[in-house]
Amino acid sequence: MKYRDLQIQTQREAPNNARTEGFAFLVRAGYLTRENTPTQLGEYTLDHLNKLSSDATLSLSTLGNEHETFFPITTGNIEVAHCPSCKYTERLELAQFQKTALPQEAQLSVEKISTPDCNTIEALANSLNIPKEKTAKALMYTRISDGKFIFVVVRGDMQASEAKLRQQLGDIRAATAEEIARSRAVAGYASPIGLKNGLIVVDDLIPQSQNLVAGANETGYHLLNTNYKRDYTAEIIADLAQVKAGDACVNCGNPLSVLSTIVLTKNFVNIMLALAETHHDDKGLTLPHPVAPFDVYLMHLPGKELDTRAKAEELYYAMQSADISVLFDDRDERAGVKFNDADLIGCSIRVTVGEKGLKEGMVELKLRTVKENQLVAVDNIVEKINFHLK
Ligand SMILES: [Zn+2]
Repeated sequence: MKYRDLQIQTQREAPNNARTEGFAFLVRAGYLTRENTPTQLGEYTLDHLNKLSSDATLSLSTLGNEHETFFPITTGNIEVAHCPSCKYTERLELAQFQKTALPQEAQLSVEKISTPDCNTIEALANSLNIPKEKTAKALMYTRISDGKFIFVVVRGDMQASEAKLRQQLGDIRAATAEEIARSRAVAGYASPIGLKNGLIVVDDLIPQSQNLVAGANETGYHLLNTNYKRDYTAEIIADLAQVKAGDACVNCGNPLSVLSTIVLTKNFVNIMLALAETHHDDKGLTLPHPVAPFDVYLMHLPGKELDTRAKAEELYYAMQSADISVLFDDRDERAGVKFNDADLIGCSIRVTVGEKGLKEGMVELKLRTVKENQLVAVDNIVEKINFHLK
C-alpha cells in the first residue's frame, strides 16, 4: 500500500474528546476519525485483524470466559466481575457468587408494627436498629409477554439483577402504580404476604433466611419475623442477586473484582482500541508483528544527486514479492514530517532510503521500539526484515 492511496491524515495534536491515550493515538495516526469511525487505514487494519484474529496472536492481556473476551479499560462500557485467583469472569449482571446465609434461627411469630416514614430498606433498618440482612426487599414488575404481575424478593442488603430476572421470566418492565394496587401491594411497604394474582420470585437466599422484616402491604406498617414457606411461597426460587466487588467467587471463594471493560469478541474496532491502549509510547503506536497492519514503513528522503524515490519504489516491489506487508510513504515531504508519521502509525520496522547511505549501497533500518538505527546493504534488506519478523 502507498501512503497516498490510503489518504492517511495524521494530526499533531490529540483530539480534545480523547479519554484514553490509545484512542488519541488512533485518531492522531489516522486510523479513526474523532467520531470513532474507521478511516481507510482503519478499515484496512480491521480487515487485517479479522483475518488474524485469535487471542493467541493479538498480544493482549484479556479476561474472558468461553463466550466472550473482555479488555479492561477505564472508559469501558461493560462491567465484569473477575476473580484474580481462579480467573472466573462474567458480565456483572450475570456473575454468580457464594452467598452466606445468616446463622439459622428458630422461627418467631409474625408481628405487625408501625413504621412511619420507613419506605426504604435503609430507613427501615435504621429505625429498627437491625442490619439490612434481616430485611426482605421487594421489587415489582410486569411481564411483557402476558402482563403477569411479578413480585420479587431479595435479601435487603442485596440488589436484584434485572438480567438474572429476565433469564427466569423473559422480558419485564417496572409495574405501574395501578398494577401494584390491583395486586394489593403497597409500594415502599410491600411483601408477598397477602398478594393477589402475582407470580412470586425469590432469591435462593430467602428460603434460608429466618425472621426477616417485610412490608405489611399497608402504608406505614411492616411485619416482623416473616418466614419463607410458613408465610408465603414462591413459584420460582433462583439466583437473582447482583454481585458486587468483594463478594466471594463462586468457584474459589476469593473476593471478586469489578472492572470496566470493552468486549473484544467479534468487535474489531474494540480490538484495535485495546491494541492501541496496550502498545504505544509517547510518540505514537508501537504495534507489534503480526497485529500491525503493515510490518514495514518504507520512506525515502528526497536527494539532490540520486533518485531515492525510484530506489525506494524498487524496494517496495521487492518487499511485496517477498510477502512483506509494507506501507510506502511516497510523499516528497520533509524528513521530520515523515519520521513523525512513521512513529505515529507504528509499524514495527521503518526502512529509510536516503542519499548519503545509498551512495554506499546502504539503507537505514530502525525498529519502532528500539532507539538506534542500523545500516543495511540494499541487497540484504529483505532478508534482514524477515529476520526481525521471526
Ligand atoms: Zn475464583
